[in-house]
Amino acid sequence: MAETLGFVGVGNMGGPMANRLIDAGHPLTVYDIRDAAMAPLAARGAAKALSSHAVADAADIVFFSLPTPDDVRNEAIGEKGVIKGTRAKILVDLSTTGRRTTMAVAETLENVGIDMIDAPVSGGVNGAVKGTLAVMAAGDAEPLERVAPLLGIFGRLFRVGGKPGMAQVMKLANNLMSATSLAIATEALVMGVKAGLDPKLMIDVINSSTGRNTATETKFPQSILPRTFAYGFATGLMHKDVRLCLEEAEALGIPMDVGNAVREIWRNAERELGAQSDYTEIVRCLEKRTGVEIKSA
Ligand code: NAD
Repeated sequence: MAETLGFVGVGNMGGPMANRLIDAGHPLTVYDIRDAAMAPLAARGAAKALSSHAVADAADIVFFSLPTPDDVRNEAIGEKGVIKGTRAKILVDLSTTGRRTTMAVAETLENVGIDMIDAPVSGGVNGAVKGTLAVMAAGDAEPLERVAPLLGIFGRLFRVGGKPGMAQVMKLANNLMSATSLAIATEALVMGVKAGLDPKLMIDVINSSTGRNTATETKFPQSILPRTFAYGFATGLMHKDVRLCLEEAEALGIPMDVGNAVREIWRNAERELGAQSDYTEIVRCLEKRTGVEIKSA
């Protein structure tokens, strides 16, 4: 059944996900602060709106894919937020914003009869384009069942809990590991190259060995060795995810010694490279300090 949908934040992830909803035949209204992000979707028949409020006047179900917790708070429950809309009954947040933001937003929306489904995703831009993301969803059973077929358009749906916020914890746990993999693989590769090893051969060996991880399997071969640095996730957003994870761990009384070191590494990377740099550029920080370049021959 075609649902009347809205989508707020159509950037690296939201753009391809919104495209897939159009492909599946759902009428769609979009809003993004950048007109250029909306243009390709408008060219495929999506209506453009001027605020999240307007999206929620036009759609029954609204998706968010926004950068930060503040963006989600403002666009959900702010002056021009979904909460002011006359039509939307479900907000599906695909962003990574942390448990506490999600719980607070969900509670405010619940007071006006809007259900929130907490549904962060993993799998990068490539997964968003192909519909192969991991979608981690938490929320009340009834609205979750209604949006389940829509989430299936983005990839594999995992129901991780009955309360908004639980999926955020799941996602932050994953991203801490992903951020750690890239940071530690960088250190290992820089050491090997300095000692004279070929980086491409190192990656091939590691990917047949026990050290392999998502950084060695995808980020090094696709973005770092060819020096393209266009993986599609910003350094500032990766730092945000690690920071949110550590805050969550602190709130739960869980010490994270490795996590603390990784947070420091990503904080320094954001300072040095800028928030908008591609997160695979993190290798440049250690390369600069050591005079080594991790590059295919
Ligand atoms: P992005 O910056 O490419 O896209 C965000 C979009 O939101 C942009 O087009 C921006 O113009 C728009 N925007 C910003 N503030 C807005 C506002 N207040 N109202 C309306 N539009 C606004 O970011 P992204 O990489 O697509 O990430 C989006 C979310 O998905 C983040 O929470 C991120 O952590 C998460 N995420 C990203 C990836 C990835 O690989 N890029 C993977 C999984 C999850």
